Amino acid sequence: MGAKLNKLGIFTIADLIYYYPRDYRDFTQISKIADLEHIAYNQNLAGGRITIKGKILGIHNKKTSQRRFTVTEAIISDNTGTIKVVWFNQPFLSKMLPAGRELILNGKVAFNFFDREFVMESPSRALKESIEPVYSETAGLTSNYIAKLIKEVLKFVLADLEEWLPSQWLGSNFELLPIQEAILNIHFPKNQKMLEAARRRIAFDELFLIALRANLSKEEIKKERAPEICTDDKNIAEFKSSLPFDLTDDQKEAVEKILADLRREVPMNRLLNGDVGSGKTVVAAIAAYAAVLAGYRVALMAPTEILAKQHFKTFCHLFEYQQINISLWTSSSKNIRTKKSKLKSQNQNLKLKTKSLDVRCQILAADILIGTQALIQDGIELENLGLVIVDEQHRFGVKQRAVLLQTVACSKQLVARENKSQVASCEPPATKKMRPHFLSMTATPIPRTLYLALFGDLDLTIIKEKPVNRKEIKTRFVEPRNRQKAYEFIKAHLKAGRQAFIVCPLIEDGSKQLAASSWGNDSNEKSQATSYQIPAALFEDERKTVKREHEKLQRIFPEYKIGMLHGRMKAKEKDGVMEDFSSGKLNILVSTSVVEVGVDVPNASIMVVEDAERFGLAQLHQFRGRVGRADHQSFCFLFSSTTSDKAINRLKALESTSDGFKLAEIDLEQRGPGAIFGTEQSGLLDLKMASFSNCELIDQASMAAKSIVEADPELNNYPLMQEKISNYFQNRHLE
Ligand code: ADP
Ligand code: MG
Repeated sequence: MGAKLNKLGIFTIADLIYYYPRDYRDFTQISKIADLEHIAYNQNLAGGRITIKGKILGIHNKKTSQRRFTVTEAIISDNTGTIKVVWFNQPFLSKMLPAGRELILNGKVAFNFFDREFVMESPSRALKESIEPVYSETAGLTSNYIAKLIKEVLKFVLADLEEWLPSQWLGSNFELLPIQEAILNIHFPKNQKMLEAARRRIAFDELFLIALRANLSKEEIKKERAPEICTDDKNIAEFKSSLPFDLTDDQKEAVEKILADLRREVPMNRLLNGDVGSGKTVVAAIAAYAAVLAGYRVALMAPTEILAKQHFKTFCHLFEYQQINISLWTSSSKNIRTKKSKLKSQNQNLKLKTKSLDVRCQILAADILIGTQALIQDGIELENLGLVIVDEQHRFGVKQRAVLLQTVACSKQLVARENKSQVASCEPPATKKMRPHFLSMTATPIPRTLYLALFGDLDLTIIKEKPVNRKEIKTRFVEPRNRQKAYEFIKAHLKAGRQAFIVCPLIEDGSKQLAASSWGNDSNEKSQATSYQIPAALFEDERKTVKREHEKLQRIFPEYKIGMLHGRMKAKEKDGVMEDFSSGKLNILVSTSVVEVGVDVPNASIMVVEDAERFGLAQLHQFRGRVGRADHQSFCFLFSSTTSDKAINRLKALESTSDGFKLAEIDLEQRGPGAIFGTEQSGLLDLKMASFSNCELIDQASMAAKSIVEADPELNNYPLMQEKISNYFQNRHLE
């Protein structure tokens, strides 16, 4: 028995009482048999179950014609009518349930065309009006058995279950059910109302723990110290006015918030969340500039080489006339590229120098070091590191993020440069750890509710506004029969000098995961929304599609140059292709989802996504964000041969909305959080009872957690809470 319980993840009494039912059979909402025909018709549309209460008029067993199994048939009657009920392979029922017995049955009612009558099939039984739990079973361990076990156990342990939330929350504050009542009613609900209340209490607990953890880690960070960066406002203002555009109001506000953070001795821990093309890079650049002006170094980490190189280029351009050394560090190019500082008076064209000198020496000279994960992997330690910026940080995954934060925390002790008097006052007292300020950026619109779970320890700044010259990107779902027309359209734009991206759902950076989640079928299973392992043969085949697509397009657009980009290419090749596309040597880029993040080629105005139904809306929105980066009217074509109405409607949502947050919310609702963040993050998102769409409860839980941590950051008055939080997160495969 123990082994079987273990199979269900039950090892302790606590595991058992927290093993919640996966469903319930409600024997309290009783229908009249006379109404069944009508109800069955309506409910079957919704797949519902029906409950009746009546007397057994007659019951007998029948062998089926193939003699394979037994059918037990009974006629049940209430004072409004009668109905036939059948059970399969339970011949003992005819003895157990003699004629004359009153009972309550809950099951689906189907119309039997052969006999032209309604039949209730394999209903569950109860002797009294009650709501019965249904547990996930395993071989040799039925739901009924588990229910009995839990009932027995609760008799002994329920009274000892201690309330761990402050009593005022139970009453007027949040009207939560006491824990004992909640546990009892989640297993054996007194009625629907109590079941709802129990669910709410247990969901609250889950959300509260997540929020509590976020608030506690915020508190942890407050204990550490960061350099107080005295921002050189005059030079910063000058730099801002040297930009080729005016910052949007949201950008200005973000800059102000970040600079204010930098001036404090508490480490900044901020998430800059702005839709694609909202101009996060320049905000990061201003922050970096402020740090460098104050004598600190800055590290900027990007999830892909393409992106790191692009940032390197952008920063080199932005700081063309500033005396700032910028270096690039990626795993493929062990020799680093640096931009040497240049004075205004020289007024020369920018040259990027490629050097394979003593690399670490070079790095020591860099004011801003830009790179990929290689920055962590190669254990680069920057002296005087004042600010760490991570772009598209959600792409790094939870584990990498933890490593990153650790690395950041342990990075070399900050030493104020001797010749910079203004930072001399920042000498850290011996008791506090020193860590650089941390700025994280993401273009993935994160619904508020998910934000709490994943990034709740970060302060949030949102850039909503797009730079003014942006036109809406016209988005069209394209059926196979309109493909040719779309190609003609694209041709016209290529002719006008624009460029096009064509994205195929392909394998990503060397992993054996599909770049896109499997969006193809319509099952509502959560697991469908996450990436999965695919056999090597399929993998090969998938890889070929980029090549095949490339060949095909060559035939369709013979007069244009078409490049190819996928994660399996060598970094050098990728670079070459990207550079050719940026400079306009290539007209079309056929690519895997590697162009999803950050790539900035303003002249590109067409984005085509093949097999679009295989991607999540948020991801498609990201693809779309690769175009529309300059004044040209831009277009996004979603090619798909799906015939599923649901899939088509989902894709059409992109036609009508350009609001990334809204799209992410649709993803979240339809597919669960995995749709937005993929599997890596899902450990955290694995809620038993709560749901990320329950905003009100999430707000209450956040508020509660905040108030607790503000009043008692060590949780000294809440020993049970302490215990609970460490248990809860130990059980998730996170740490
Ligand atoms: P993202 O937020 O997606 O990282 P980027 O920082 O790459 O966006 O910016 C997208 C483009 O918009 C870049 O070419 C950038 O130079 C430009 N840009 C940024 N801010 C503004 C602005 N305020 N006005 C006009 N263009 C801007
Ligand atoms: Mg970006």
